[in-house]
Amino acid sequence: MTYDSNNIFAKILRGEIPSHKIYEDEHTLAFMDVMPQCDGHCLVIPKAPSRGLLDTDPAVLALVMPVVQKVAKAAVAAMGADGFQLRQYNEAAAGQTVFHLHFHIFPMKEGVPLRGHVGKMADHEVLAEQAKAIKVHLT
Ligand code: 5GP
Repeated sequence: MTYDSNNIFAKILRGEIPSHKIYEDEHTLAFMDVMPQCDGHCLVIPKAPSRGLLDTDPAVLALVMPVVQKVAKAAVAAMGADGFQLRQYNEAAAGQTVFHLHFHIFPMKEGVPLRGHVGKMADHEVLAEQAKAIKVHLT
């Protein structure tokens, strides 16, 4: 399987479509998921192109994972969550719908289940508020 540079996250990286950004550096971008499965559902992606975990240069993973940790910590604090799930899907058979490597962060509260994968679009004002709240907790 090859990388298709017309995927939606490549378009977000090129600034062709908007996103609610949380964090950006030379190698990585974190932003809100538009169809969140819980409050504060956000995504961390490398800027380097790859479809999933298996075609990603380990050197890129080494740059992305500290950002996953940093954003997860901030998202949990901002949402007042009790924990979080980290998920990453590889290929359609496993549920992947956007073919640019991404890590899902789901801040979770005791007893509150996640909503379905790729469900309802969120209100943009709510996403903007949540992105702002998560940014405040980035260290
Ligand atoms: P996957 O199914 O590939 O693991 O996850 C793709 C995620 O991207 C889904 O959770 C979906 O809600 C999210 N998504 C799809 N289109 C967009 C978009 O245009 N903007 C943002 N921010 N997220 C998107």
